[in-house]
Amino acid sequence: CGIVGYIGENDSKEILLKGLERLEYRGYDSAGIAVRNGSGITVFKEKGRIADLRGVVEEEVMGSTGIGHTRWATHGKPNRANAHPHQNTSDRFTIVHNGVIENYHHIQRDYLAGVEMESDTDTEIIVQLIGKFVEEGQTTQEAFSKALTLLKGSYAIALLDAEEEQTIFVAKNKSPLLVGLGEDFNVVASDAMAMLQLTDQFVELMDQEIVIVRKDSVEILTLDGHTVSRLPFTAEIDM
Ligand code: GLU
Repeated sequence: CGIVGYIGENDSKEILLKGLERLEYRGYDSAGIAVRNGSGITVFKEKGRIADLRGVVEEEVMGSTGIGHTRWATHGKPNRANAHPHQNTSDRFTIVHNGVIENYHHIQRDYLAGVEMESDTDTEIIVQLIGKFVEEGQTTQEAFSKALTLLKGSYAIALLDAEEEQTIFVAKNKSPLLVGLGEDFNVVASDAMAMLQLTDQFVELMDQEIVIVRKDSVEILTLDGHTVSRLPFTAEIDM
């Protein structure tokens, strides 16, 4: 139901949790965050409120790159296993997703036979698919683009790669997603409201693009790899 992301120089946990709290009004049944640091990606997730999530987040795990999610279950009941973020079998890739993947059964049957799923969500097939394409030799960007061309439905996605510490990959189709620009940091949000405390400069994403967000750059590409340039707009919302 809501997505946030942060990449910069500070610990991301509190920024993500506060961002998710600003999206609480939209309704949700579970929530989670993933933080990336030099030793890998750590996922914290829980059924219930952000307050419940705060109860399982370990203060000492720090990471200046992170993504967060509030879930409104569409596929798979609201429980901890189905809460986002989701990871592929090798745990290299971590994803949060808003929306519905209509053809997830077909993708599972045609591309992921033999892959054991850890959740009942439509979301998990996206991250398993990316993991599989990378195992077959593609770069993360190629695997992400290829996976997106196979998906039917709606999505806003933020993806972390354990082997690329300084990057958040994002994309959208029919679901809202924005990238917010800061000095020495950038953010991702399904709603500008979540990150207005940090910046009012946002770049709109279009369907069928992928965006590579680093702390000092935002690169927008079409699915076939062409660079797109787009100016930010100033979000004006009463706080
Ligand atoms: N379809 C996904 C799920 O059920 C995402 C739902 C959402 O947008 O929160 O987990």
